[in-house]
Amino acid sequence: MTAAEKATIARFVDLSSAYLKGGYGEVKAEYHFADDMEAEVDLLEQVAADVRSCERCRLCKTRKNAVPGEGARTPLVMVIGEGPGADEDATGRPFVGKAGQLLDKMLAAIGLSRTSNCFIANVIKCRPPGNRDPQPDETTACASFLARQIQLLSPRFILSAGRISAQTLLQTAEPIGKIRGKFIDFQTGGMTIPLIATYHPSALLRNEELKRPAWEDLKLLRSELDKTML
Ligand code: URA
Repeated sequence: MTAAEKATIARFVDLSSAYLKGGYGEVKAEYHFADDMEAEVDLLEQVAADVRSCERCRLCKTRKNAVPGEGARTPLVMVIGEGPGADEDATGRPFVGKAGQLLDKMLAAIGLSRTSNCFIANVIKCRPPGNRDPQPDETTACASFLARQIQLLSPRFILSAGRISAQTLLQTAEPIGKIRGKFIDFQTGGMTIPLIATYHPSALLRNEELKRPAWEDLKLLRSELDKTML
C-alpha cells in the first residue's frame, strides 16, 4: 500500500471516530506514512547495528555504548543533536540526561515526541571524552550513518539542536545565533528537507536568556508543521 493510501485510510478512521463521539473525538492529523515500512525498519536496524560495531575513529576506544538514535519510524521531525554525553554513553540512548529531559519538554510543547512523531539522533554516535567538541575527522567518519538514517526516515522537517549540529549539517562556520530562526533547505542524497536550527538544550540550561529565542524557533517549526497538515 502506498503512503498516500495509508494516510487516507487513517484520516478516514479518525474522522469517523470523531463523528461517532458527537464531534468531540480527537482527530489525529499528524500521520506521516512511508511505503514499504517493514523494509525500512530492517534497514534502520542495520544502520544501528553498523553504528554499534563501528571502529572508524578513535571514539570507539573510549565509548561504553554507541548511540545510533531512536524514535518514530516515519517521523514528522528528525531532531539532530551533537553527540552523546555521559548519560547517553552509559545507556546507548540519545538525549536521556538533563538536556534530553528539557528537549522532551520542548518537543511536547509543540505536540512532538520521540515516541510518536520524532526521531532523535546525533551528528556523531560516540561520546567524545570529557564532552569535548567532536573533531573534524570524527564527524567525517560518522557522516554516512546520519546520511543513511535521513534517507531511510525521510523526515518532513529537521530540527538541528545546537551549534555543532547546525554547522556540521549545513557545512558552515556561521555562529548558531545567525543560523537559527529560519528554515534552510538541507540537501542530502537527492532529498531536500526544510531544516530549522535552534540553541542546544544544554545551552538553555546554562543561559536562561536563550529560552525565548528557542521558543520562537519551536513556534516557527510548529506553524510550518500546521501548514503541511492542511
Ligand atoms: N547532547 C546531544 O547533543 N546529544 C545527546 O544525545 C545528548 C546530549
